[in-house]
Parts: sequence; structure tokens; C-alpha cells
Amino acid sequence: MKRSAVYPGSFDPITNGHIYITERAAAIFDEVKVSVLVNLQKKSTFSVEERCAMAREALSHLPNVTVDYFEGLLVDYVRQTRSRVIIRGLRAMSDFEYEFQMALMNRQLAPEIETFFIVTDPKYSYISSSSVREIFQFGGTVQDVVPPVVFQRLRERFPARLAQQ
Ligand code: ADP
Repeated sequence: MKRSAVYPGSFDPITNGHIYITERAAAIFDEVKVSVLVNLQKKSTFSVEERCAMAREALSHLPNVTVDYFEGLLVDYVRQTRSRVIIRGLRAMSDFEYEFQMALMNRQLAPEIETFFIVTDPKYSYISSSSVREIFQFGGTVQDVVPPVVFQRLRERFPARLAQQ
């Protein structure tokens, strides 16, 4: 049986930190499904389709990685995909409390599913999708922390910043 894992998140947009976690996971599991969460409560900058398209392009060098989206409970989706592992990335202690709570909640809901934490590389520890969006909108440089496809989409989404980047 293939060892498959789901890496869920908002990926709004995908950053080099997410790519690093996916690469590490792809080296361990036979198959990694990067899964973009459709959260109707949370206002996103990019649509689900855009987030998937950017992730697909940014991860195209990894043959055992696929990108899809899901709605509803994560554990239901993981069961549907016949996977038993949820991948999450850890940046700092500040991530830990939230991630630990989610992992415990998911274990309560689905005891057969394991949450698998991958620690980030220190050079990505400060990167988040929200900081990328904010820095770009205020004219800062994000080229070093996102893949080229995301940089391009940010320029299209926030054209006022074109002159400065
Ligand atoms: P969510 O809204 O589910 O937290 P994100 O897209 O922000 O979705 O993050 C998805 C996962 O990737 C989370 O486990 C998060 O901690 C992790 N992650 C985000 N940025 C980084 C990074 N720079 N390095 C490592 N892991 C990260």
C-alpha cells in the first residue's frame, strides 16, 4: 500500500516555507496531497482555483505531489483520500499551541489518523502568507520568499505596486 499524506492549509498564497515542508514530506511519503482548504468564513486574497494553480506550478518539480482543494472537516477529507497522515509545518513556539490543539482535536475525531510535524528551516521561520501579502501591498520585496509564479500573481493582483517591484 502506498504511504500517502495530506498537507492541508490555506496556501493564500503558497510560500517558500510551504514548498520546503512539501519537499521534506515528499522525500518521506510515497504520495503527498497538498490540499487547499475552502473556508467560506475566512476572506482570502486569492480564489481556491488561483491558490491551487500557483501551488501546482510551484511544486511541479515534485512528481509524487498533487494539489487539490477540499471543503468541510479535514479528517473526513483525509479518510476520503484513504490517507492516514496529516502533515503540518512548525515555525516557532507560537505555531505549536494552535497546532497541538488541532492535532488533539483531530485525534479525538479520527484516532487512526496521525498528525506529522515537520520543522521548518530557520531561513523560512519568519515567512507566512499573511506577511507576504502585507509586505507586498506596502511596497516591500517578497521575491526571495515566494516562488516566481506567486510573485507574478501578486503583481497582477496589486498593480499599484508594479512600479516599485
Ligand atoms: P493554515 O491557515 O491552515 O495555518 P497556512 O497556509 O498558513 O494554513 O499553513 C499551512 C501549514 O504550513 C501550517 O502547518 C503552517 O504552520 C505551515 N507553514 C506556513 N508557513 C510556513 C513556513 N514558513 N515554514 C514552515 N511551515 C509553514
